[in-house]
Amino acid sequence: MTVTNKLGVHALVFVGSTSDAEVDHAIEHTKAAGFDLLEFSLHDAHTLDVPRTKAALDAAGLDVVTSRGLAFDADISSEDPATVARGEELLRSSLEVTAGLGGRLMTGALYSAFGNFGHALTTRGRQNVVAVLKNLATEAADKGVSLGLEVCNRYETNVVNTAAQALALADDIGEDNVVIHLDSYHMNIEEDDYTRPVHLVGDRLGYVHIGENHRGYLGSGHLDFTSLLHALADIDYQGALTFESFSSAVVSETLSNDLSIWRNLWDDGPALARHAHAWLDTALQGVRPRA
Ligand code: MN
Repeated sequence: MTVTNKLGVHALVFVGSTSDAEVDHAIEHTKAAGFDLLEFSLHDAHTLDVPRTKAALDAAGLDVVTSRGLAFDADISSEDPATVARGEELLRSSLEVTAGLGGRLMTGALYSAFGNFGHALTTRGRQNVVAVLKNLATEAADKGVSLGLEVCNRYETNVVNTAAQALALADDIGEDNVVIHLDSYHMNIEEDDYTRPVHLVGDRLGYVHIGENHRGYLGSGHLDFTSLLHALADIDYQGALTFESFSSAVVSETLSNDLSIWRNLWDDGPALARHAHAWLDTALQGVRPRA
């Protein structure tokens, strides 16, 4: 079987922010490790020179995906109209950046703040999520961009913790360019196994994050990637697989706090990236769809 999925890597493997020097460093080492795609978190996109970065990505022949979560004072799952409006503005400006970079997918916790909420999602809060993302999806479609709903664990959001919940939210948004984004790290916490959610999402799966249970070196934790990769083959998933790993060695002041990155799991991002590409490439060679 020939595996044709593009392999991606998260920029936070290399750099904590998106200054010109950091962008250049990330692109150089993404290419050097053999990846096809670079994912930028837009948590501090004000440092990102969009036209310059697009030119550098194009010159390197790399695809780009953007991701972000919202903030507690700018959260479309809130009941407070001013908080919702600030969240919508963050999403709209991130969509501009995504289109400016030539990205075709903006994903992440687009539906809420990152963090521990201390209460369940309310009915009105969910209605606000649906209304804002419906408008945003229409604008995104005009720019050729899809929106990903990343399924995150209960400690990071109260909106979407399982694939089934993400499908229900996408159904309520009701726009074709809203896709589901699964992440092995979050699935390990919330799903029954790695097979059922992948089969459930099927052709609505638009993106996959590959991360260990502790978000360190692939193969150094206990996740059953064999089952996950086989399930992806079952549904003939053709999208990207993007390696995600975080260490306090690459510190982004805001995001490291939001993601609870307190431990140093590695020091050398380029070495980690080379290992992850080789590991994924090797694992995919043995993957076959269900007979
Ligand atoms: Mn992820």
